[in-house]
Amino acid sequence: PVSDQAFVTLATNDVYCQGALVLGQSLRNQRATRKLVVLITPQVSSLLRVILSKVFDEVIEVNLIDSADYIHLAFLKRPELGVTLTKLHCWTLTHYSKCVFLDADTLVLSNIDELFDRTEFSAAPDPGWPDCFNSGVFVFQPSLETHGLLLQHATDHGSFDGADQGLLNSFFSSWSTADIHKHLPFIYNLSSNTAYTYSPAFKRFGSSVKVVHFLGPSKPWNYKYNPQTGSVLEEGTGLANQNQTSFLNLWWKTYQHSVLPLYS
Ligand code: UDP
Ligand code: MN
Repeated sequence: PVSDQAFVTLATNDVYCQGALVLGQSLRNQRATRKLVVLITPQVSSLLRVILSKVFDEVIEVNLIDSADYIHLAFLKRPELGVTLTKLHCWTLTHYSKCVFLDADTLVLSNIDELFDRTEFSAAPDPGWPDCFNSGVFVFQPSLETHGLLLQHATDHGSFDGADQGLLNSFFSSWSTADIHKHLPFIYNLSSNTAYTYSPAFKRFGSSVKVVHFLGPSKPWNYKYNPQTGSVLEEGTGLANQNQTSFLNLWWKTYQHSVLPLYS
């Protein structure tokens, strides 16, 4: 049954909540048939919680300090892994049998319900090092046992990049070789701001992209947008390439049409 499956995202502050809202509305606009869940932390304001609850079926607060002792311990030993350990909370959503996690800086361009045909752990290659998966989009199966093992792995080994991607890649280390069905096609996690060196491939396949990921330091919400022209302002950024600009404009269009009205 589809009611025991969910799309899950994470927002630890009000800024990332803007991303989560755009993502949630993009899933709704594409007629997602699964539940929508957002994990938040105590820093998220009460206003944003109200707005989030208009888009997501469940707004779940996760609080490292109040959690089970072993989580608290993991956190104290490796405080630099704070947001990473928060992301791992998605494995505690055991009232769902299968979930798709999406970073709050992703945007869904067409229906992606078919991702639920995949199994744990499925993800797309990272554009920077294709033998690693990118942890911005992945299919997983909630399980307290897996959650505990992940936390144990975090305290024992840390993360080679200081974040969830390094940790998850060393935990699910057989991803690159074991099962091709666990390699999601790149169109489910296309980083908008990578200057692709294989431009014929981008020309050939770019239009079938289903999920755009604004990975890296410049997030859509850092840009200024002109609602009159429907375009982000390039001045002062100098970083955006043409493909990125059209994806940024799509993000902002979704924000204008589907998120701003939620505040009135
Ligand atoms: N995140 C968050 N608050 C933060 C940083 C990250 O909620 O301060 C969550 C959010 O869901 C975000 C994900 O963790 O999309 C991964 O971080 P980010 O997308 O910034 O990393 P990147 O994809 O750029 O490597
Ligand atoms: Mn991201």
